[in-house]
Amino acid sequence: MYKLGILGYPLGHSLSPFMHSSALNHLGLEGSYEKIEYPPNELENAVKFIKDSGFCGVNVTIPFKVDIMKYVDTIDTTAQAVGAVNTLKINTDGKITGYNTDIYGFLNAFGNLLPPDLQDKTAAIIGNGGAARAILFALVTAGFKKINIYARNTEKSTELANIALEFVGDIKIESLNLDENINLEEIYLLVNTTPIGMYGKAEGASPVSLSSLQTMKKDGMIYDIVYKPQITKLLEYSQSCGLKTIQGLEMLVLQGAKSFEIWTTQEAPVNVMRQSALENL
Ligand code: NAP
Repeated sequence: MYKLGILGYPLGHSLSPFMHSSALNHLGLEGSYEKIEYPPNELENAVKFIKDSGFCGVNVTIPFKVDIMKYVDTIDTTAQAVGAVNTLKINTDGKITGYNTDIYGFLNAFGNLLPPDLQDKTAAIIGNGGAARAILFALVTAGFKKINIYARNTEKSTELANIALEFVGDIKIESLNLDENINLEEIYLLVNTTPIGMYGKAEGASPVSLSSLQTMKKDGMIYDIVYKPQITKLLEYSQSCGLKTIQGLEMLVLQGAKSFEIWTTQEAPVNVMRQSALENL
């Protein structure tokens, strides 16, 4: 019996319950996937609830990805390096292991689009929040040696850069002001990690302008981790410039699939999980 769930606040219309429930059903595994919604100041109670209720696997999302590390007995090396945990495995003795599957999800969503040798190419991240932290680590892992962070608070970007530089010394990370008309001619891969373009108030907005994207070389790539809508304004502009694009939903599906495999030790039915996410978007 796999008692699974997602811990966060607010959880609203999370796609994870749909994805994981359909994966359990598809494989004929007995179990459930529940929302565990606790306000930010009640993390300790949430962890107690998770242990007392017999959960064996839990995803962790905003705002708990960093603070949950205090309650975890063992942290795998990737999660340790990133400083954030998004997956908990709870053993029968109550001991918790923490993982970070966001990096796996982010990198595997490229499919075969990333060339093997990236050391002469420059990547750029827009934003410097929680997702940017994991993505900076992923880009370093992928082999980029120069990464620009564009954000409205450059001091925060420098802090982020310093954390990454503690792990790898031979990279250059620049903290720059986000301006919608930034010149992107040296950028090979641009990743949006802000909610700009997301459904609701931000929908229809783009962190950079069409003319900014037109400065990119034609082999450039744009990755928007916003997954609703699937084609954000940024991706729409990018496609009109002939740039390759990657949609955020694939990262969401693949990080979930990796969590599922950690919990069940079975191969995740990725197509079923993707379909379920699309149907409930
Ligand atoms: P977060 O920790 O709150 O960080 C948000 C970042 O966006 C911060 O750097 C923030 O800057 C910046 N930002 C917000 N509004 C902005 C604006 N109007 N102009 C400029 N910068 C702005 O959130 P997160 O966890 O990183 O998540 C960010 C987005 O990624 C969300 O839309 C989330 O749904 C999505 N996401 C997708 C996946 C996936 O699997 N596809 C995974 C994780 C997250 P300040 O600090 O200056 O406010």
